[in-house]
Amino acid sequence: MTRSISILGATGSVGEQTLDLIRRNRDAWRVEVLTANGSAAKLAEFAREFDAKLAVLSDESRLPELRGALAGSGIEAAGGCAALCEAAARPVDITVAAIVGCAGLAPVMAAIERGGTVALANKEALVSAGDVMTAAVARHEATLLPVDSEHNAIFQCLQGNRIEDVAQITLTASGGPFRTWTQEQLEVATPEQAVAHPNWDMGAKISVDSATMMNKGLEYIEAHHLFPVGLDRLKIVVHPQSVIHSMVEYRDRSTLAQLGPSDMRVPIASCLAWPQRMDTPMAPLDLAAIGELSFFPPDEQRFPATRLAREAIEAGAGAPATLNAANEVAVAAFLAGQIAFTRIAAVVESTLSRYSAPAPASLDDVLGVDHEARVFASEMLEHA
Ligand code: NAD
Ligand code: MG
Repeated sequence: MTRSISILGATGSVGEQTLDLIRRNRDAWRVEVLTANGSAAKLAEFAREFDAKLAVLSDESRLPELRGALAGSGIEAAGGCAALCEAAARPVDITVAAIVGCAGLAPVMAAIERGGTVALANKEALVSAGDVMTAAVARHEATLLPVDSEHNAIFQCLQGNRIEDVAQITLTASGGPFRTWTQEQLEVATPEQAVAHPNWDMGAKISVDSATMMNKGLEYIEAHHLFPVGLDRLKIVVHPQSVIHSMVEYRDRSTLAQLGPSDMRVPIASCLAWPQRMDTPMAPLDLAAIGELSFFPPDEQRFPATRLAREAIEAGAGAPATLNAANEVAVAAFLAGQIAFTRIAAVVESTLSRYSAPAPASLDDVLGVDHEARVFASEMLEHA
């Protein structure tokens, strides 16, 4: 039986790894929609290879290029934000939400509102929208499957158990490329150094988030929404080998962990096949070759991001959306060479202290907070 799939952000790291799994089992899938931001040529290439019905570019100015590249293929081409949301709302068996940043929020909400199954990689969307998204999932009887490796691990460890019996959820963190760096070294860290992650091959934004530990901060908020056990039962531990992807401890002190290679195709496959399983091309886990697993508490002096995220979710209202928006602005500025690495968390912290955003009650409210927080964060950049 073939299943239909749409991939939002098909040209990115998660998008391409999803397509890689589909390529290996081509007959099992019918590709409906593929989207990208501006990479028309790559999107057209994938749309042709996977015989997609529709290819959408968010950047409408590149639409003529996409149309040209798809000429004669019979594949529909569209451009702009409204077209992206309409495409995301097309009925399919599963939507993979792999756009980076709050830019992915409106299409994710469109997919949720048609009551489908959404495999969510786009953590910024859930962090910003929080209850607005989880309420929409409940209202439209949609299914949200977590792609993020930690949340996918937790999701797997919760199967067959009751959430009421959870004593503690532990998110593991690799610690990123700068785990052992001194404060002085962090001050002069370059974008090239930040995007060279020791364990995972990812897009630029999440790589920087991993280096600042904001990725774990965003994941802490993401976990709070996906697995509502209470913030006091949500912990972070640094585990440099990235073999254990997260753990759930129950009231009887049994701890279930999910282990696997640090390759996103494993959690993506878990979502694609759920509730069944499918093959992936990865080598079996060889624990004897890995030898040792180690664990450390997070150092919030050198990496304040997890503290900022915890404070934002404790503050509630529009603080998580503000944290996310300020971080997106600061990371983009760092990648553009405008601010130092250690200024990223500083910009987020000063934006949070300057802007007390109201609690968003709708998608438009969330987008409003996101917009406003970006204005504040951009001002903070000037005070470097
Ligand atoms: P990426 O930068 O490699 O790809 C992003 C995709 O989104 C691309 O297809 C791009 O064209 C599209 N895009 C970018 N900006 C857009 C915009 N403004 N409007 C519409 N589309 C836009 O990113 P990635 O590393 O694949 O990450 C995608 C998401 O998955 C992020 O939220 C990230 O945090 C999450 N995630 C990634 C990984 C990983 O290993 N890469 C792991 C866990 C979670
Ligand atoms: Mg993760």
